[in-house]
Amino acid sequence: MFIGHYGPAVWDTQRGKETPLVTLWQGFLAVQFIDIIWAVLTIFGIEGPSVAADGTPVFHIPWSHSLLTSLILAGFAGLMFRFFKPSAGSRGFWVIAGLVFSHWILDLIVHRPDLPLYPGGSLMLGFGFWNFPIAAYVLEMGLVFSGFLFWQRVTSAKSKRYDYALWAFFIVMAALQAYVILIPGLALQAGNFDASVGPRGPALGVTTLIIFFGMASIISWIEKGRPSKFSPQNLG
Ligand SMILES: [Zn+2]
Repeated sequence: MFIGHYGPAVWDTQRGKETPLVTLWQGFLAVQFIDIIWAVLTIFGIEGPSVAADGTPVFHIPWSHSLLTSLILAGFAGLMFRFFKPSAGSRGFWVIAGLVFSHWILDLIVHRPDLPLYPGGSLMLGFGFWNFPIAAYVLEMGLVFSGFLFWQRVTSAKSKRYDYALWAFFIVMAALQAYVILIPGLALQAGNFDASVGPRGPALGVTTLIIFFGMASIISWIEKGRPSKFSPQNLG
């Protein structure tokens, strides 16, 4: 999954009730933490795009995306968050760990079998929902749309432009999802997919990191203009 990961980023045990434990930009980085590790490993040629025995595009992701390492990364990210924000307590740990691990669950739905149980394991998991490009597109953008709709309801825009900005950002995300996942998926379905098109290796890893950190920066700007309706300073 790509953009769809941002849907669960709004989840927090406190959001919609009181001051959230995790800011949305932190949530944005948490849900992509496993892919951030993937991008770094791709820069060094340890992971990257690959081709399955039947010719379909998959990923070589033994370290970043095995079930075992994903659980370890979720725990590690949770501990890091607790270290930097002790006031979030054990709930903060579980929110961050849950957001990080949501990445693996959503990848399991869309990836063609390329998710191992542990690094080097030969059993590859993945339900392959990306083989239905239009339905998968609706699923990914639907997840983000629901997340944004919820977030819009539990925050109050300081001015109209923070409403426009949120939905303009959604449209940018929808375009990016179409370019990176939907169009190649449709080409694959039509039998004219060219695996040699697009960045690879260090260029792919760096582009991915720019997208992820760019997304987090944009949402952190929108977030400044959309405080929680349930934070003490906004109540009353
Ligand atoms: Zn992933």
